[in-house]
Amino acid sequence: MPKAILIDTTRCTACRGCQVGCKEWKNYPAVATKQRGTHQNPPDLGPYNVKLVRFSEHQDGDSVKWLFFPDACRHCLEVPCKSGAELEDSIIVDKETGAVIYTEKTAKENFETIKSSCPYDIPRLDPKTRRIVKCDMCIDRVKKNLLPMCVKSCAMGAMTFGERSDILKIAAERLVAVQKENPKAQLCDMENVNVIYLVAEAPSKYHKFAVADASDAMKGDPGMTRQQMLAGKFAPLRKLAGPAQG
Ligand code: SF4
Ligand code: SF4
Ligand code: SF4
Repeated sequence: MPKAILIDTTRCTACRGCQVGCKEWKNYPAVATKQRGTHQNPPDLGPYNVKLVRFSEHQDGDSVKWLFFPDACRHCLEVPCKSGAELEDSIIVDKETGAVIYTEKTAKENFETIKSSCPYDIPRLDPKTRRIVKCDMCIDRVKKNLLPMCVKSCAMGAMTFGERSDILKIAAERLVAVQKENPKAQLCDMENVNVIYLVAEAPSKYHKFAVADASDAMKGDPGMTRQQMLAGKFAPLRKLAGPAQG
């Protein structure tokens, strides 16, 4: 049965427990950083930071809203990044869970092609191994009936992991509750992905790639609209999806 994760950003306090838990479980090395006037650190996803809590500030009347977005691979159902791969087994989908896994053979792939095939700007290149890397849904833990490390690390209950069918129900119920106070609340691209974000504001306020963005992939065909590109990437599922989210 496919698995899914609901990330309820309305419950996220940006403690970064998930980001640290991920890095520790993966045994990634520390990366030199510096103060850049924001709590978002490091500034972007990287080969040793496949989970990143993004921070963004917005003026809302006389007050400022601080929005948090724990970013990582969405484990797409129709895997756009796989369409950019030359080798059959460099990017594989685990049948049991739906997790999208990058193997050591990604070192033989063209990084820019894979990266630009992802509508969420997720893949990163490990400069040492030349492997392309991203979140693997903690497949090693999940296969042993353990929670993904980021989910286990979240003391606020902002992340829920389980069977996709159960997660879709939980997400729909939670959306109804959140929409009472936040009418713009929505579930980002839920028909197409296994990591579903609940946001209270327009997704673009959280992160440029909170919902699928095909602009990179469209560079190869400037005549193609974002909707046409996404229709190609998510073809079998588009008919289920609502209008493009802003
Ligand atoms: S989010 Fe990007 S990297 Fe992850 S499965 Fe989808 S296309 Fe691939
Ligand atoms: S599922 Fe595992 S690899 Fe993916 S972001 Fe969470 S902790 Fe990191
Ligand atoms: S651990 Fe939970 S509350 Fe903390 S940043 Fe991650 S999602 Fe947000």
